Amino acid sequence: MTLEEKAIELLLRSPRLEAGTILDLLDVGDREFREMARRNRTIAKLLEARRAGQLKPPKSEPIQCPVCSEWFVPYGSSRFCSDTCRTAGRIREVGRGRHRRRPCGDGEVAESGHAKGEDIRAAARQKE
Ligand SMILES: [Zn+2]
Repeated sequence: MTLEEKAIELLLRSPRLEAGTILDLLDVGDREFREMARRNRTIAKLLEARRAGQLKPPKSEPIQCPVCSEWFVPYGSSRFCSDTCRTAGRIREVGRGRHRRRPCGDGEVAESGHAKGEDIRAAARQKE
């Protein structure tokens, strides 16, 4: 991974920065950026989250733990006050059938180019 790519990963986490501003800052071209998004899942996911408006500002404001109702200052993107509550929360979500997996892959980012290589390799494997 290049240094620019790593920097883009970090900067994309901030909802205050436009993607265009980040590219200008790092002097990265549009085409180069699209290639990064194609091979780098972290960048692709961050772009998806940005489009969906799911990016949270990295602020440390107290939130209420959904399990024990305790107020706490989250570390990173944790929604729970402790590992114990996180485990309990996961079990609850599974129990409610809310644990749905979203299909991965982004139609906008993916282009036919590399999918073809996969097909050829799969066909070759079948012949063996
Ligand atoms: Zn808790």
